[in-house]
Amino acid sequence: MKFSEIKYLRPNLEEFIEKLKALTGRLIAAESFYDADAIFDESEALSVNIETMFTIAMIRHNIDTTDKFYDDEAQYIDEKTPIIEEVNQSFIYALYNSKFKPEFEKKYGSLIFKRIEIALKTFSPEIIEELQEENKLITEYGKLLASAQIMFNGELRTLSQMTPYKQSPDDTVRRAAWEAEGSFYIENGEKLDKIYDELVHLRDKIAKKLGYKNYIELGYYRLSRDCYNKDDVELFRKSVREHLVPVAAKLYQSQAKRLGVEYPMNFADAALNFRLGNPKPQGSPDDILNHSKKFYHELSGETTEFINHMFDDELFDVLSKKGKAGGDFCTFLPAFKSPFIFANFNGTAHDVEVMTHEAGHAFAFYTAKDIYPSAYRQPTLESCEVHSMTMEFFAWSWAEGYFGKDTNKFKYNHIGGALTFIPYGTMVDHFQHIVFENPDLTPAQRHEEWTKLLGIYMPWMKLGEIAFYGDGKGWQRQMHIYQRPFYYIDYCLAQTVALQYWAMMQTARNEAWERYMRFVTKGGTKTFTELVDTAGLVVPFGDVFGGKMIKTVTDWIENFENTVMLE
Ligand SMILES: [Zn+2]
Repeated sequence: MKFSEIKYLRPNLEEFIEKLKALTGRLIAAESFYDADAIFDESEALSVNIETMFTIAMIRHNIDTTDKFYDDEAQYIDEKTPIIEEVNQSFIYALYNSKFKPEFEKKYGSLIFKRIEIALKTFSPEIIEELQEENKLITEYGKLLASAQIMFNGELRTLSQMTPYKQSPDDTVRRAAWEAEGSFYIENGEKLDKIYDELVHLRDKIAKKLGYKNYIELGYYRLSRDCYNKDDVELFRKSVREHLVPVAAKLYQSQAKRLGVEYPMNFADAALNFRLGNPKPQGSPDDILNHSKKFYHELSGETTEFINHMFDDELFDVLSKKGKAGGDFCTFLPAFKSPFIFANFNGTAHDVEVMTHEAGHAFAFYTAKDIYPSAYRQPTLESCEVHSMTMEFFAWSWAEGYFGKDTNKFKYNHIGGALTFIPYGTMVDHFQHIVFENPDLTPAQRHEEWTKLLGIYMPWMKLGEIAFYGDGKGWQRQMHIYQRPFYYIDYCLAQTVALQYWAMMQTARNEAWERYMRFVTKGGTKTFTELVDTAGLVVPFGDVFGGKMIKTVTDWIENFENTVMLE
């Protein structure tokens, strides 16, 4: 069924709650594994409709944040999710303590119980009010950003619509765009500080109510992390600082030289990679969509089936519109076994990324659609980002159809950007560790911390000059910091795995695809480190950037710089 034809009906929550409570009672009283397992099946079936309807409401609310109907639904969902979580927790608690746990483990494996154990550590009915408040603040932040109407070049523009101007090869236009966008954040600075301050204290309070020292450990559990902790992440960050930052700095030095600007660069100059302009996709959004169809058709049989489903059922909303929420994401509608892609095309290389990155997620959702139980459909988030970031690299063989004459510039940008992104992403993660270890920092102190980190992780950036960004406040535009704490290192860990796939593609493409499918088809039946192992790749904890992989990438870049015209 086409997405637009799916009828949204607010699910009957009272009925759902009663049914799940009844199932919990029956699970506790079950006298055989046969009965207990049948009750488990019923619980799986019960959640399909509610999950699907909530996802539809969320998608439609994001498509038009000014639509009153879905705005009300979003508020309703924000309020009700913690209450549903309470009954859900009782059910998984009963499952975890079932006398048939050994039989369940035999049938479904033990990972499901490890994940339940983690989920049980994240909740208590005592925190329902705080969770509702948290949802409200997250929505408020999203709406504030979606409300941006920036007067630029004679028209009011959303934040996404500013992106092409922020990359303009015309120095004056580009700089003005950065200033104009920065002014929006400066004007809303007090609100942004206030929302974040409330979120930090709220999350700290939740953590303390649940018996944690601060939010950090809980934050990891809320992301269901089941195979690494903050010490592993610190090792990763250390490797980034020691080995990757100098490599990235070199790339920015070549960029400054290419552009004929001073190094370190201001934020506006750093956004332009080539004097004649950043690589641009050729043609219209329709051309990008059509070429994507061709790409997935030619890539493999599995991706052909997937992309046909996406187009047949119109499971995309990718054009930028006023009132549409920012960002790009992919989600899944269990009742229809369909992924959905939400994005904001803006005329830059980003639009191709949507069709390779977000569609990489969608492909993984589609591949795992029949995995049972549902807890095993999706792995933890860093593994999901391996799905998408690696798909971006598989698209290289079709880059010409997207970028035409800009293909070389695109490749250079993509692989260079993959490297330089990691210090930024790691900094976002480091910042949040500081914030939650010190929840009483004032907003001004938080900006100071960010400024200090810029010096460590991004020494190629010149402070000052550009309002907001140059003032050490740029973290406020990073939605994840507000909406999904600690979900950022996931991208960095994933990129590190994706780069290993990229290196393999250079010499053994079929092998790379085979190992990719090994990773993707497992869905969420394994932990991140197990999935990486399964694919025969190196787990990115420890000194991952001290080794061979970075050398393969930098050699390639150096060779490319010497043999190809980049201007
Ligand atoms: Zn992603």
